[in-house]
Amino acid sequence: MSQTDFSSLQLRPDLLENLKSLEYLEMTPIQALSLPSILEGKDVIGQGKTGSGKTAAFGLGLLNRLEVKKFRIQVLVMCPTRELADQVAKEIRKLARAIHNIKILTLCGGMPFGAQKGSLEHGAHIIIGTPGRIEDHLRRNTLSLEHVHTLVLDEADRMLEMGFQDTIDAIIEKMPSQRQTMLFSATFPKQIKKIANAIMVDPVMVKAPALH
Ligand code: ADP
Ligand code: MG
Repeated sequence: MSQTDFSSLQLRPDLLENLKSLEYLEMTPIQALSLPSILEGKDVIGQGKTGSGKTAAFGLGLLNRLEVKKFRIQVLVMCPTRELADQVAKEIRKLARAIHNIKILTLCGGMPFGAQKGSLEHGAHIIIGTPGRIEDHLRRNTLSLEHVHTLVLDEADRMLEMGFQDTIDAIIEKMPSQRQTMLFSATFPKQIKKIANAIMVDPVMVKAPALH
């Protein structure tokens, strides 16, 4: 069994089986470097270029921790734009195919608020969305993050470039401090290091090696 084999990980058997059916035969470098720590529940900072497979790295981690029988919001993934949130949701739905009755909801701006409110009333396990709309729902009490145990900031550098820092801070304040936090970013300016220090505990830093 090689180190890049998914079966070297402590993954739920149903997730592992599904990876085979998706023909994910080997871990990408960022997955191989980050998944052992992610599956131990550690906070992780991951740096890797587009297309390096970051979604499955955090996606398998959050799915492995999720308790589908507890029908409440356990995971929040924040992305800079609706397009990126939709891509992440698509990939996580693919990875979650083997988990029956799992409910994944996207909450992004530009979509009707009322319909999202209705979906939230029906409940979900995982929320994937953009910071602005998530904060809107929190303000209007249509969303509660009190049971979130896993937080992901995807493309954190872009979210900060777009001016979401204060919004992200306000959202994190509404979440339990006992949680796993994962942050992914293509670049690591000072501002990212600062936010990572503020919201993570002893994060493990993982950088995907450049492909040649
Ligand atoms: P990133 O977020 O790093 O830009 P993505 O998570 O969007 O990259 O992944 C890029 C593509 O690679 C996706 O189409 C995904 O389905 C595919 N992929 C991810 N991990 C694997 C893997 N281990 N084996 C095969 N394909 C993979
Ligand atoms: Mg990505």
